[in-house]
Amino acid sequence: GRQLTLQQAELEELRDSLQGRLLLPGHEGYEQARRVLNPSIDKHPALVVQPTGAADVMRAVDFARERELLLAVKCGGHSYGGKSTCDGGLQIDLSTLRGTHVDAGTRRAHVAGGSLLASLDREAMAQGLVTTAGTVSHTGVGGLTLGGGFGRLARRFGLALDNVTAVDVVTADGKLVHASANHNPDLFWGVRGGGGNFGVVTRFEFQLHPMARTIVGGDLVFPLSQLRDVVRFYADYSRQAPDELYLDLFARSPVGSPDGIVALHACYSGPEAQAEKVLAPLYKAGTPVQDGIQRRDYVAIQRSHDNADPRNHAEYLKSGFINEFPEALVDVIAENFEGFVERGTMLLFQHSGGAIGRVPVDATAFAQRKSLANMLFFVEWPLAESPDQHVAYIREQWTRFEPFTDGWYANEVDQESAHVVDRNYQGNHARLVQVKNRYDPGNLFRLNANVVPTT
Ligand code: FAD
Repeated sequence: GRQLTLQQAELEELRDSLQGRLLLPGHEGYEQARRVLNPSIDKHPALVVQPTGAADVMRAVDFARERELLLAVKCGGHSYGGKSTCDGGLQIDLSTLRGTHVDAGTRRAHVAGGSLLASLDREAMAQGLVTTAGTVSHTGVGGLTLGGGFGRLARRFGLALDNVTAVDVVTADGKLVHASANHNPDLFWGVRGGGGNFGVVTRFEFQLHPMARTIVGGDLVFPLSQLRDVVRFYADYSRQAPDELYLDLFARSPVGSPDGIVALHACYSGPEAQAEKVLAPLYKAGTPVQDGIQRRDYVAIQRSHDNADPRNHAEYLKSGFINEFPEALVDVIAENFEGFVERGTMLLFQHSGGAIGRVPVDATAFAQRKSLANMLFFVEWPLAESPDQHVAYIREQWTRFEPFTDGWYANEVDQESAHVVDRNYQGNHARLVQVKNRYDPGNLFRLNANVVPTT
């Protein structure tokens, strides 16, 4: 029909105006583009643009806005809720926009908007420099940084977003805008914590810090039967740890077995002579069955959990920040965390505090500065099964954990929390709405922890 011919002409015009590729369903690369890490997300965009630079991104944003297409932006594809893909709309797949350039003289990294953390870690450390990145190296710099950015160095150097010194953003009007402390400071404030709400970041500039290549760290593993003791130790020690010690706790029971483990994951990046003293208490948390703590290359420990996520299983998670770790929470964990044959369960505490908490709460859009840790509770199940009973299980469990939380990580927004984004940003929400009104009044960028414009 006429409609179809018009669309065909439009698509051809779009294709001809790009330097990168336009992918339609069935084209080579389309499947990989539409997929995200969580295999239970199964969405099909009508078109995918793989830009070679900001000019293609500007073109794609114009195309989506003019036709009111749903717009998804994908970097590393680690959004648990699948915010970087969509049904029927346009996906900008930034996997063609990758690479890190380090300027050792000014201690700056220039990172393309589609890059993965591995690139930033590797290029920076090649020059004896680091900045905070997440704990799994195939996570995207884009999503991780715009929402926060916890990781093994965050207690020393702040969140990933605290180290951002400038960004280039393609905003909803299709313009490329530079933002830093001196240029468009309102946008610069908003992108640091506001996620993808304001546009497509095509380039990040990070400040870097000198650091020795060798750290001391790894996993110290205990049987799940020692859960209570290990959690109690963590509740106490995570609070007292020096900034140079990053300490996670995870308890895990896989699909197919009710047994499991509880482990402490440490990364001590301070003076090596101090490492033994700082790490010795961990060995008294219980009776370890496996000790992986050793001297390691920093870039190698950054990759050490790259295969830990459940690739062939569906998953769902609930999460929230804890500001304290009272004995009552130790009890809730000891009494409620359990393994099953039919589903996997994992509880994770990602260490916060230190330098994260010394940044004023209104310095960036990120609001949860007081947190001691991010508490995450995952459930996983075989892909072929219905999610219903497993999602119901985790939601019911979470009612016991949630009272201990104060807000949640915007990068982990889910179906329930999508409705309370305003409350989650606390005192920063009103200013976020102002920035949204200015840069995206039509809410083109809404596949995120969405700040709804009021204009
Ligand atoms: P994507 O799914 O590609 O994108 C996520 C969101 O960010 C989407 O809304 C997308 O539109 C937006 N976005 C991405 N790039 C851009 C861009 N350039 N411009 C504009 N918008 C953009 N978080 C931590 O803080 N620390 C961790 O250690 C950590 N570990 C993780 C480990 C695993 C295995 C997983 C799955 C997640 C982890 N996370 C961690 C959470 C992570 O921060 C979020 O999942 C984050 O959204 C991932 O970013 P991404 O670019 O990979 O995801």
